[in-house]
Amino acid sequence: MTRRKKIYEGKAKILYEGPEPGTLIQYFKDDATAFNAQKKAVLEGKGVINNRISEYVMTRLNTIGVQNHFIKRLNLREQLIREVEIIPLEVVCRNIVAGSLATRFGLPEGQPLPRSIIEFYFKEDKLNDPLVTEEHITCFNWATTQEIDDILAMTLRVNDFLLGMFNAVGITLVDFKIEYGRIWEGEFSRVILADEISPDSCRLWDSTTNEKLDKDRFRRDLGNVIESYTEVARRLGIMKEMPRVIEGGAA
Ligand code: UDP
Repeated sequence: MTRRKKIYEGKAKILYEGPEPGTLIQYFKDDATAFNAQKKAVLEGKGVINNRISEYVMTRLNTIGVQNHFIKRLNLREQLIREVEIIPLEVVCRNIVAGSLATRFGLPEGQPLPRSIIEFYFKEDKLNDPLVTEEHITCFNWATTQEIDDILAMTLRVNDFLLGMFNAVGITLVDFKIEYGRIWEGEFSRVILADEISPDSCRLWDSTTNEKLDKDRFRRDLGNVIESYTEVARRLGIMKEMPRVIEGGAA
């Protein structure tokens, strides 16, 4: 019998040792958390949907040359990924005012931004992921100026791609959060996209009704969380092998 070694457990995912050096297995849990884990729930089937949506998005990003950690999906809840040295930043890209941007500047949610904004947050739950500037990032050696440039360029490409991909299925991409990691080749390292892209990490509004189809349904107690995530998957055309997932019911 073999027991897989757990490398890391986060709020929504677990990382296990992979079958080969330089690989990991990323397991998507049904756990949902918000407000730095002050609010918690288990949303039956969420992990299955996010695994599929993230697989779909990462695969498509790879085809347009945005290198990322995804290798292949293994089963309903797991994917094989490349092991990266995670850069401790949450990179947020915004097209429309919402969430913390609305609160911070007293702006109405839903106001389109004249141009997309990229923000960096230091990934540290104990500190509530504070907003940081490029000065902090280089000063504390979280990333180099070259890496920041690469991250900015890649994030804009991801944004352009996701805007088009979601727009084509009647969904407005309001904002999203992504993370990056380093892979080493001898003396040299390269930054690639890591983590996940799913309704847990994006704000997605129905283009016609502005109905929220993302984690704000959980954060703001709007109900129908799983139904909305499933709707996103259905519109992207990745529902074919999707098991029946009913909120609060069996997956
Ligand atoms: N986000 C995320 N994880 C976080 C914080 C934010 O995935 O820990 C995503 C969030 O879903 C939204 C975007 O990043 O799509 C911007 O979030 P915001 O700064 O508005 O924070 P929030 O209102 O979610 O606290």
